[in-house]
Amino acid sequence: MRKCRNRHLVCACILAAVLCLIGGCLLFAKFKCSRDASSNQITTELFAMDTYITMTAYGRDAETALSDAEDKLIELEQLWSVTDPDSDIYAVNHSDGQPVSVNEETAELLSFALQMAEEANGALEPTIYPVLTAWGFTTEENRVPSDAEITELLKNVGYERIRQEDMTVQLESGMMLDLGAVGKGYAGDLAAQVLKDNGITSALLDLGGNIQAVGTKPDGSPWRLGLRDPFSGGTLGVLEISNQAVVTSGAYERYFIGEDGKHYGHIIDPTTGHPAESGLASATVIADEGRLCDALSTSLYVMGMEHAIEYWQQHQNFEMILITENGEIYLTDGVADSFVLDSYHSNMTVHVIQDEEI
Ligand code: ADP
Ligand code: MG
Repeated sequence: MRKCRNRHLVCACILAAVLCLIGGCLLFAKFKCSRDASSNQITTELFAMDTYITMTAYGRDAETALSDAEDKLIELEQLWSVTDPDSDIYAVNHSDGQPVSVNEETAELLSFALQMAEEANGALEPTIYPVLTAWGFTTEENRVPSDAEITELLKNVGYERIRQEDMTVQLESGMMLDLGAVGKGYAGDLAAQVLKDNGITSALLDLGGNIQAVGTKPDGSPWRLGLRDPFSGGTLGVLEISNQAVVTSGAYERYFIGEDGKHYGHIIDPTTGHPAESGLASATVIADEGRLCDALSTSLYVMGMEHAIEYWQQHQNFEMILITENGEIYLTDGVADSFVLDSYHSNMTVHVIQDEEI
């Protein structure tokens, strides 16, 4: 009997130790936090939405605010993951054509994505997932699908066939929804809102390269961001922003080289079902809202320079910096003064896009 009790005690101790270890790891995964007491600055890092996220906030309430923002991001990831069987998107994708009720934020994200897909004339295509999978971008087992396979898969692509009524979504059987091209931007908006609701007036969020600024730096000066050089991976220049978001799309991070030696990127041109080859190396969008930046950076990258400029001239509710494959920079008038090329890139040709040019 005594032996048995001891065994229970040992088991309980081991269990407690394992739980502490797991708890510790989870806590670490969720909230890796560093503090600079002199400037009241706190930085947290986490991995969510398939990307590394770093958030820095200033002020007395920064720690609580950041913890709340992290909870929000984790909640959104659980709603929008394509692979998590408990997510809204998974439920829609496995509904076999039946209507599905989704969370309010999922509904908002979807209706925004559908509106942007319409405005971008289908360059943004929230139902491109089956084609993306055929190229192996969802499994990392990359391959070049045959033309016949792509033609067949494209039959199940078409955002205009999604039916949404408030919080109810219906997808035709065989279609798949993936909000990866806009979700991180919208998540940035919502995380920034959580910080503001907690009284934060100065913060910088980096969601895997999607930047979201709350206010200015604590001293009132603008945030200074390095714009990535799509060719070398280094920095091309410095961009100054305040209370805005900046998102870049390009094919330099997620791509594979085929047996034919060609470079295939993860952004698909929905008209061909092939990785976009629009002549752009990257498209950066600067605007008040992260979701607009995210949707547009993907869309403009697919459209290519001429259509992107036309789009900007028609809308003008954002600024953009386009870098062409041949190394020229096209930027809109409103950002010309806030972007400065690094000195060793000063030989690059820069074109300033004015209203009604082209
Ligand atoms: P990232 O998420 O890599 O920062 P984007 O915001 O441009 O870059 O989104 C790319 C992701 O969007 C792809 O990984 C894929 O899931 C999806 N996608 C690819 N092509 C399109 C497209 N034409 N329209 C909408 N989503 C797309
Ligand atoms: Mg995007």
